[in-house]
Amino acid sequence: MIDVEIDIHSGFCFGVVRAIDLAEEHLRQGHDISSLGQMVHNAEEVKRLEEMGMRTIENNAIKTDSNKYTLIRAHGEPPTTYENLRNWNKTIVDATCPIVLKLQERIKKCFGEQPETQIVIYGKPSHAEVIGLVGQTKNTAIVVSSEADVSSIDKTKPVCLFSQTTMPLDGFARIGEAIKANSSSTVEVFDTICRKVSNRVPAIREFASSKDVCVFVSGKNSSNGKMLYTVAKNANRATYRVSHPGEISKDWFADGMSVGVCGATSTPQWQMEKVKTYIERLF
Ligand code: SF4
Repeated sequence: MIDVEIDIHSGFCFGVVRAIDLAEEHLRQGHDISSLGQMVHNAEEVKRLEEMGMRTIENNAIKTDSNKYTLIRAHGEPPTTYENLRNWNKTIVDATCPIVLKLQERIKKCFGEQPETQIVIYGKPSHAEVIGLVGQTKNTAIVVSSEADVSSIDKTKPVCLFSQTTMPLDGFARIGEAIKANSSSTVEVFDTICRKVSNRVPAIREFASSKDVCVFVSGKNSSNGKMLYTVAKNANRATYRVSHPGEISKDWFADGMSVGVCGATSTPQWQMEKVKTYIERLF
């Protein structure tokens, strides 16, 4: 016998649930719809949606895409994408998470009202959300992902610092301090990290440390997945990351152990259930 429990705090955040609900609603109505980029950083969930009729396209394929409806996923897009979609007569299904939308508006307002200020975004330069945020500043914002990048900021000019919503709180605090230490002008710090993600850090730490073995389920390209997996792994060295049950090894477990199944904000509940059932069947 083995005791397997799913972490109640894991799974899709509300922004992703909302985007998928919107996509499914259009698919049910029989609309020909394409998602601009992967709906979620989770190949299994993307496959499920594609089997329902959803197409996934990249930005350079908008013009030639035969589908009329184009969905903007929870990460959001820069203003140029909206212009392109309108120019090519697409019907926009905007599933940008309301939290990301609010952040885009704040950055746009700061850019419009404080032209002398350098807008700095703590995040990953190639992440879709960051591309959407930088786009609010006509691509002038400076993206920093570590303290080493702070040298690219002009120390004589004012700074407004924002964050990609899924970055770690401690990293953001360190970046803020490094910018302040490096600057001879004013530095305004706006903590725009999504608490739907950051609140999961203590929860997953507690959950992982309460189990003999932990199985973390997430897509390989989910940045939130990488971050939460590291938290779980640091709390319990017997933590393994998988994207589907086929990657699970029976050697990880022994009879009578307590096993925790948890995941990222891009991990659907059904996927964690599948992993739980798979492990239970091994014993
Ligand atoms: S992590 Fe937060 S900001 Fe990002 S999609 Fe989910 S709810 Fe929205």
